[in-house]
Amino acid sequence: MVRFTVLASGSKGNSTVVTGGKTRILVDAGLSCRELFRRMKLANEDPATLDAIIITHEHSDHVAGLAVTARKLGIPVYFTHATHRAWVRWLTPRRQMTYAQWLEQCRQQAAARMPEADVPPAEDCDPEDSGDTVDLAANANDSEASEPARKKAKPEAPRDPAALPAVHYFEAGKPLQIGDISVSPFTIPHDAADPVGFVFHAEGVRMAFATDLGYIPPNVKAQLKSVDLLLLESNHDLEMLRDGPYPWSVKQRVLSRVGHLSNEACATYLESEYDGQATYVVLGHLSESNNMPELARITAERALNGRASLLANRLLLALQHEPLASICF
Ligand SMILES: [Zn+2]
Ligand SMILES: [Zn+2]
Repeated sequence: MVRFTVLASGSKGNSTVVTGGKTRILVDAGLSCRELFRRMKLANEDPATLDAIIITHEHSDHVAGLAVTARKLGIPVYFTHATHRAWVRWLTPRRQMTYAQWLEQCRQQAAARMPEADVPPAEDCDPEDSGDTVDLAANANDSEASEPARKKAKPEAPRDPAALPAVHYFEAGKPLQIGDISVSPFTIPHDAADPVGFVFHAEGVRMAFATDLGYIPPNVKAQLKSVDLLLLESNHDLEMLRDGPYPWSVKQRVLSRVGHLSNEACATYLESEYDGQATYVVLGHLSESNNMPELARITAERALNGRASLLANRLLLALQHEPLASICF
């Protein structure tokens, strides 16, 4: 069974469950742990059966619930080195130590507690553990997700907010295997430390995942070929962004080569370069301030209708506030 379930997509949080064979991967954890679990239940996805989390980049709309979710489920997190480093810095902004020092500290702590382990010991991800004090700052919603009893627990020394059950590193351009799913990470142009998109491949089905990109460079176009499902960003309508409420500096950032893909740029790609192979085209990461779902849909539909051969492609919209019905192959 191959299944693709978008739990949320947009600047207020992104997360998707990809299932292939016996393996289930959460792509990004940009909602609180409680909200992620709620949406998974709505979409008939069981959080307890997730095997891993993989992260596209360290912006908060992709990682807001990461630490709590990974610890609660006791599952590994896959990052690029630079994204992991940026995420750790984001969680510990006042910490006066370099990344190398932090790694050394983790190594020493792990060695002291469990001589042969290279990851924090299992009790660190015990959901009953009451050491989430630091996460309260990182993501207030997650504190609500924790058991109310926790608030009454006796105070403990704050633990490392970036502690995870296990961390695995990958590099853009180097495919990796997570259980039954092959993952091909590729670099995308976006203003983060080392942002990536993914192609997931399982049971002969290929699913491409490309949001948070300022434009579609040749390496991304190459990755988007011959896929059965294409999740592509359709972030903003150019006119709405220009006339909208954002300050000029933010507008410039969104419009830049390392910002977000507009409806128009998405449509241009669909009209002129897309190979038409996908059964499903899913538009994602729609802006709530500078876009409207129907505008994104119409712009993409026009582009696809301009090519009669692509009418068989099913066009779907991934939304911010509710999960998209699972796409099954
Ligand atoms: Zn984003
Ligand atoms: Zn981003």
